[in-house]
Amino acid sequence: MLNKIKEIKKEMGDDLLILAHHYQNDQIVSVADYVGDSLKLAQMAEKNKTAKYIVFCGVHFMAETADILTEDWQKVLLPALTAGCPMANMADLDQAEKAWELLKAEFGDEETVPVTYINSKAEIKAFCGRHGGTTVTSGNAGKVLSWALSQKKRVLFLPDQNLGKNTAVDLGIPEEHMALYDQSTEKLTYACSKEDVKMVLWNGYCHVHHTIALSKVEEARKAHPNAKIIVHPECTHEVCKAVDGKGSTEFLINQVKNAPAGSEWVVGTEANLVLRLVETNPDKKVSILNTRSVCTNMNKTSVENLLETLEQIKENNFEKQITVDDNIAKDAVKSLNTMLSLS
Ligand code: SF4
Repeated sequence: MLNKIKEIKKEMGDDLLILAHHYQNDQIVSVADYVGDSLKLAQMAEKNKTAKYIVFCGVHFMAETADILTEDWQKVLLPALTAGCPMANMADLDQAEKAWELLKAEFGDEETVPVTYINSKAEIKAFCGRHGGTTVTSGNAGKVLSWALSQKKRVLFLPDQNLGKNTAVDLGIPEEHMALYDQSTEKLTYACSKEDVKMVLWNGYCHVHHTIALSKVEEARKAHPNAKIIVHPECTHEVCKAVDGKGSTEFLINQVKNAPAGSEWVVGTEANLVLRLVETNPDKKVSILNTRSVCTNMNKTSVENLLETLEQIKENNFEKQITVDDNIAKDAVKSLNTMLSLS
């Protein structure tokens, strides 16, 4: 099947672009034109002006983002149509509008700017675009959040409370100056004065990273006393505080790749990426922080459904195409462009 995919790629040439996220399995990565994190893949999609068909091996919000950033004549397809992101699904437009009204009542009009992690629905990116906000990825979070904090008195950060908190702490914002908005109870809680609230964190998280317990770090320290432990900033703040470094998937890869031979690393992120680090760095000792860090949605892309997608394209069957409504896309692109201009 992999050979068949390679044949179709050759046949279609520049008409076809296959993008794959770092969390995809090795077989998918082996046939991708580009492999990267959300930021790099969004930039690749935006830059490409030749491919009629962009096949996105990842989850739904990534294909939506690619559709927003590409030209009308380019079609974006997702091999596994049920591959969603549970964290992105923790924030929808109705919930965001309710939160916005509550924040206006609490802090006043024009006092807050919304910032959404790229791991969000297109309608949330559009919400941010409409209110002068931006999108952010783990690869540019510090820069983008600094910009947002220079625009208004406070930031509403959706949907990942961990990335929001970890980035804000890095920028010097005390934890006690952060509020939590719970979208299911529609309640806002904070322990400081109103004026001191700088961040309002949405109560969302990525289960793959959020469930890495502090005890895993303690166990790894005992088992690998000479290792450096690095994690993705979707991990909780207590885990991020306890490790030696945190950053985007590109950061994690580069840390290990550029390290001296013989060094030891324990990496806390999705298993496909860590297992690839083990294979591609045989001169170093690399292990995974939590063997349960598996994203079932990322793993829904298979050689079978990728081949099926390519064969369907050849037959002019676009049932796996992902499209974003023009009304949503026109506002979502504003928040994406703000981020890309800051990256
Ligand atoms: S790893 Fe987490 S954030 Fe990424 S797609 Fe899976 S659930 Fe969503």
